[in-house]
Order: sequence, then C-alpha cells, then structure tokens
Amino acid sequence: MDKQDRTSELTVFITTTDASCSDCGERLGRGAWITLVENKRALCLACADLEHLIFLPSGDAALTRRARKHSALAAVVLKWSRARKRYERQGLLVQAEALEQAECECLEDADARARRREREAARRAELDREYVERFAARVREIFPRCPPGRENIVAEHACLKYSGRVGRSAAAKSLDEAAIRIAVIAHIRHAETDYDTLLARGYERHDARLRVEEKIERVLAHWQARE
Ligand SMILES: [Zn+2]
Repeated sequence: MDKQDRTSELTVFITTTDASCSDCGERLGRGAWITLVENKRALCLACADLEHLIFLPSGDAALTRRARKHSALAAVVLKWSRARKRYERQGLLVQAEALEQAECECLEDADARARRREREAARRAELDREYVERFAARVREIFPRCPPGRENIVAEHACLKYSGRVGRSAAAKSLDEAAIRIAVIAHIRHAETDYDTLLARGYERHDARLRVEEKIERVLAHWQARE
C-alpha cells in the first residue's frame, strides 16, 4: 500500500503484563502505555515519538470528534478487558493545539470549560516549577532567537517527560547543553515540521526523521544565531 494512502489510526495499548521498551530498554511494568512495531516489539511513548500528545478520555463525543478532526496525529488508546475478553477504547491521544481548538469550539458548553481547567490543573501539578524555570532559562540562553514563549513549552514538556523516570532524570536534570539540545530538537520536530503528519500517514519513524532532518537543522541554526 502506498504510504500516502494509509490513514489508519495509530494504536496505543495499556499493557496488562510486564513490558519493556525494545528501544530504550526501560522496564515499563504493568499498565504501561506502549505502541507495537514490527515483530510485535513494544515501544514506550517517548521512543515512539507520541509523548507530546495529550490524553483525552472517552466520554465527550463532541470534543473527541472535534479534537480528532484537528489533530494531524492521533492515537486510539486501548486496554484489554479480561471480563469482556476484548480491547476497549479508553480515549484518544491528540495534539495539544487540536485539543485547544476543539475546546474553543465547545466553549459555549460550561462543562467543557470546567473539564479543561481540571486537565490543566492535573498537568501543572506534576511539574517541578523551579526545574522548569531553570530549564527554560537554559533554552533561552543557548537558543536566543527561539520565538518568545517556546522555552517554556520545551521546558514543561521535558519536565513532564522526566518526572518519575529515575533512570533518565540524571542526564536531563544536569541541564547540560546536549540535554537541552535534544529537548529543543524534539520540540522543533513536532512543532515546526510535518513529522507528525508523516507518522499519521504510516511513515516509519526513521524514514520520517530523515525527511525532516534538514528542516530541523535550519530552524536550530536560526534559533541559535546571535546578532
Ligand atoms: Zn523507550
């Protein structure tokens, strides 16, 4: 099948048995969120490049439909039900901007506003504010020409990503230039290139990465340039 024609949604499974990521080797335990790639290998969401997506639980049909429509990349989240002996849909992973847009369209609905506040509060509660600020300051220092506010987006994401992941936190917490650069590259890949669209079309991660490599280099050089 031609890659351009593959519009099938990505699928994320919540594991019921112990799982490990076959890329980074992290032991994920039970109840981990994974994707399956060729030969049934499991990948954690960080390695699958899906970690920037926001989880929208099932239950609000209008919001789900709108978020799905606006999201260039989305993944259905499934969990095996022992009782019913089948996979059951838990919700959808969508891009943050798509969810925001969908929420705006649902804005006349007061419940939608309340749910949004709850989700935002839950996300913020996980963040270590002091670390986020230090991380953002380092991004701004190394990439002085990145658009205003981006340093905060990169820092919050990096902080969410490393919170509760002891094995990885040491490198990220050091705030060395390599760690900052990796976080900025991941942000550029999702925010400034059509990488997510390529994944949604069924491109393999490595092929998709190759296709956006040059664009990422250009943006990096621009953000890093000093007068
Ligand atoms: Zn992994």
